Amino acid sequence: MRWHNLNIAFLFYLLVSLALVSCSSATGVVFDPAKPHHGDGEFISVKKGSFFGHLRMRMREDDPPPRDPEAVKAIIGEVDRDLVDSFAAQPRVTWIGHATTLVQYRGINFLTDPHLTQYPFYYEFYVEPRFTQPALSFAEMPAIDFIVISHNHYDHLDHRTVDKFGDSVLWYVPLGLKAWFLDRGISSHRVIELDWWQNHQFNEQVLVTFTPTEHWSKRTPWDTNQSLWGGWSVDIDGFKSWFAGDTAYHLGYFRDIGERLGPFRLAMIPIGAYAPRYFMGSSHVDPAQAIDIHQDIGAEQSLAIHWGTFQMTIEPAFEPPQLLQQEMAKRGLAAEEFEVVKIGDTLILD
Ligand code: ZN
Ligand code: ZN
Repeated sequence: MRWHNLNIAFLFYLLVSLALVSCSSATGVVFDPAKPHHGDGEFISVKKGSFFGHLRMRMREDDPPPRDPEAVKAIIGEVDRDLVDSFAAQPRVTWIGHATTLVQYRGINFLTDPHLTQYPFYYEFYVEPRFTQPALSFAEMPAIDFIVISHNHYDHLDHRTVDKFGDSVLWYVPLGLKAWFLDRGISSHRVIELDWWQNHQFNEQVLVTFTPTEHWSKRTPWDTNQSLWGGWSVDIDGFKSWFAGDTAYHLGYFRDIGERLGPFRLAMIPIGAYAPRYFMGSSHVDPAQAIDIHQDIGAEQSLAIHWGTFQMTIEPAFEPPQLLQQEMAKRGLAAEEFEVVKIGDTLILD
C-alpha cells in the first residue's frame, strides 16, 4: 500500500475517533469473574485489533489483485421476489450479500447482520465501498420479525441500516451492545442483549440462543472488547439454524455448540477475509477451517457468507469459494453440503 494512502487513512482514523469519543457511553456490563470470557472491564479475545498492527501488515503486503468485472457480474444473481414474499412452508435462506442473510420459515422472517448500504465504516469517503449491491433494499424486504447482530464491527453492524429498521423489529445483540442501540433511539423493549449460552423465547415457535465464537469487538479506539461477539442459534419449530458472524477457529467452542444446540439443518459460515494468515488467523477462519466448523457443529448444510461484497483483506476477491470447493472435493464431501450461491439466490431446504 502506498505511504500517501496510509497517511490519509491514519489522519481520517484519528479525526473520526476523536469525533466518536464524545459519543461513547457506558455499556452497563457487570463483568463476572466466574466466566472465562469475562475479563477485568472487558471481554477476553485472542486478538483485539490494533490500527498500527494493521498498518504494519499493509506496509509489508501487496494490495489485493484487481477484480475482473466479468467475475463480479458472475456472482450476482436475482432475488425471486415472489418467493421471498410468499409463506415459507419449507425453510429457506436468501443471501443478501456479505454476512447478511434472510431466513424464512412458517411465517417467521429474520435477518443476520444486515448491511444494506455502501460503506463498511463510519464515514463515506476514502473507504472502498461494496463492489456488489445488496440483493434486496430496505424497501424490498419482506416484513422482518427480528434481527440478530454478531458483533459491532462496521461490516456487521451498519448504523445506517439499523436506523432504517429502528423499532420495527426485535434486535438480538451481544452483551454490552444494547446501550449503543438505545443511543441510536431504539426503544429498550426492542433490544434483547444476551451473554454466551443465554437464550430468549421470541414467541412459542422460536428460541434464540447466543453462542461463543473466537473474535473481538471495536468501533472506536476507546471501546475495544467492551461489547461481546458471537454466533446465533435460532430454532423455529424444530428447524435449527446457526449463524457464525465472524470467527477464528476454536474447536472447543464449535464442538460445544454442536453438542448443546445441534444438530443444525443450516449454518451460515464465513469463508472470506482471511489473508494474510499470520495476521488474520486469530480473527477469521479460512475456507478449510470453515468446513471444520461446519462439521464440528454438526451442520447438515452450510451456506458460504462473508465474501464477494467488501474487499477488506488481501486475498483475491473470488478465491474464497474456489478454495472452499477444492477443499470440499479433497475431503470427499458433496459440494451441496457447503453451498456457494450467487448474491440474491435462495436455498430452499427440504
Ligand atoms: Zn469482525
Ligand atoms: Zn466481518
